[in-house]
Amino acid sequence: MTASASSVRVAVRIRPLTENEKQHCQNSAIAFIPDNQQQIIVGGDRPFTFDYVYPPTSSQQDVYNSCVIPLLNKFMKGYNSTILAYGQTGSGKTYSMGIGLDSVMNASANDGIVPRFIDSLFSSLESKRSPNYSFQVCVSFLELHNEDLVDLLCPNVRSRKEGLNLMIREDSHGNICWSGVREESVSNTAELTGLLRKGSIARTTASTDMNSTSSRSHAIFSIILKQFQVESADETTIENTTLSDQTNASSSAAQQTKRLVSKFHFVDLAGSERLKRTNAVGDRAKEGISINTGLLALGNVISALGDESRRVSHIPYRDSKLTRLLQDSLGGNSQTLMLACASPADTNMTETLNTLKYANRAR
Ligand code: ADP
Ligand code: MG
Repeated sequence: MTASASSVRVAVRIRPLTENEKQHCQNSAIAFIPDNQQQIIVGGDRPFTFDYVYPPTSSQQDVYNSCVIPLLNKFMKGYNSTILAYGQTGSGKTYSMGIGLDSVMNASANDGIVPRFIDSLFSSLESKRSPNYSFQVCVSFLELHNEDLVDLLCPNVRSRKEGLNLMIREDSHGNICWSGVREESVSNTAELTGLLRKGSIARTTASTDMNSTSSRSHAIFSIILKQFQVESADETTIENTTLSDQTNASSSAAQQTKRLVSKFHFVDLAGSERLKRTNAVGDRAKEGISINTGLLALGNVISALGDESRRVSHIPYRDSKLTRLLQDSLGGNSQTLMLACASPADTNMTETLNTLKYANRAR
């Protein structure tokens, strides 16, 4: 199968060396091939090929323009979508996704994916608005910690500490429905950005409360888009909610409202170094194992999706809460982008190789 036929695409982004790394005279272990934006060479002799490769000189805008805008366009057409930021702690997941506190506090040229997406989403939607077209945008923001969920938009501290009682249900059309999660309706960029900020603050607070850091949890920021197009019945045969237009009884043609629902999940995954942490004891062991579950299950789902021979058979979504939550937005008709983030420093080479191998399974 060619990369373009797969519903999963993989981008690799190598961040610049940090000041600290430079001061400690660490060198870059990664090489790029000029004019080849798909290959990367680690440690001098290990080449990897991906759908997109972003060297340290790539800007936030470069990443957004080349790999996110195509997803936005299909999302507007009704396709469910997921972007997964994967990589070791400190590799640039939160920076790239743009859901860190720094990013949401000061809008700037360094904004990551989510703030840019929110901006373009509303301008696209507003440009389509007409008497026959309307839309509704809802948002939710969850944190998955030890297979326990925290609702980052729910200000109730108790529920934050006790974990959220979330029900995951699959309807007869294969849609995954979450109940017990706060879904806020928003009507413009400012409102949506406000909720992103509110959730990011709660994420930091929740982390402190739980004596943990974001490196141990997955954050899932979700945008649910409902679009309504009124069409006269003779224009379409699409079977959908029929609105009998009571107020306009004189109108001869019956009207139908075509309803299109799509979801976009932006997932800032737990640090991938947690994948192999299995020999700790007590609480830390529990944490290590359950975070393993999410990342492990995700790796298995993603590689099953990319494997042509297994494509029609079993995809192990039920192996973790993470993959179950995202089930209808991973594979099938949906579009998935794995953004693998890595450090260039030679001291991180083992983790960088692990990240590239994990990302490679998706192809
Ligand atoms: P992670 O979320 O994977 O733990 P962060 O996104 O917090 O990592 O990034 C770690 C540090 O590196 C942060 O200070 C961040 O601002 C910086 N950083 C990450 N990626 C880049 C980049 N592409 N350009 C500049 N700075 C970056
Ligand atoms: Mg982070």
